[in-house]
Amino acid sequence: MLAYVNGDLVPEEEATVSVFNAGLNFADGVFEGIRVYGGKVFKLDEHIDRLYASAATFEIDVGLAKNEFKAEILRWLSANDVDSDFHFRPIVTRADRFPPRMDPRFSNGPAVIVIIGGPVSPAGKGMKVVTSPIRRPAPSALPAHVKSLSYGPALLARLDAVRRGADESILLDELGLVAEASVANVFAVAAGALLTPKPRACLDGITRRAVIGLARDAGYTAVEVGLTPEALAEADEVFLTGTSAEVTPVLELDGRRVSGGEPGPVTRELSVAYRRLTEALGDPIPRA
Ligand code: PMP
Repeated sequence: MLAYVNGDLVPEEEATVSVFNAGLNFADGVFEGIRVYGGKVFKLDEHIDRLYASAATFEIDVGLAKNEFKAEILRWLSANDVDSDFHFRPIVTRADRFPPRMDPRFSNGPAVIVIIGGPVSPAGKGMKVVTSPIRRPAPSALPAHVKSLSYGPALLARLDAVRRGADESILLDELGLVAEASVANVFAVAAGALLTPKPRACLDGITRRAVIGLARDAGYTAVEVGLTPEALAEADEVFLTGTSAEVTPVLELDGRRVSGGEPGPVTRELSVAYRRLTEALGDPIPRA
């Protein structure tokens, strides 16, 4: 694989950034996780829009127009002859800091752009999740729409989940409502309707939006609510959504089986609908 570093395509084992990189030193950067299905990039424009929105909040000048960034992504995918079942991360950090002080005014020069990726398998058949003692940062601390490199709380939550024998965590927000999983959004199915937290203290996931659309197209009511942990615990079905998670059923929540320990019917239906959408949509990767 070739990595993308500031316009250059470099064998990934030789690709480097500076020890003064702002992302490395201060998590001063933003990123996306994007997926390729059947030779096409799924929801590429939405991911680029979110990347630029994240960068704008961090006052990072990406240094390329959105259409130029998109062309660079497609050029990199094409050079790597990427076909299917591939996940990649465009990362944009502020310029290197000399000396490496927190104050962003020490940054000099253009933003650093890296793209790396690798093969992925379809999401698993189901997960065990636990409610985390770690809270999702309040939107007043880290605006929820920003996908920044600051994944400290999510990592602490994931460490706790793994220690407790689970795969993923549910993080509550500062009000005690369900926010999201460490790297995915959360849905509950109750009385035939879909409930998901408002994107106030969770990332407005691109998969989440797609699944809300698919659910409504299939005739379900899908609403954004203040979701309590109690409502989640009592739900008929629970599932996670994300670029990596796709639609992943939650089969156990805090040690209790959800929907009898099997993926529920609504989750299964939406999982199939999502799979179809990934096959139908996307920007084709030019063949080299
Ligand atoms: N929340 C968090 C914290 C995430 O990291 C992700 C993965 N990007 C998601 C939700 C799901 O977002 P998306 O569907 O856009 O991948």
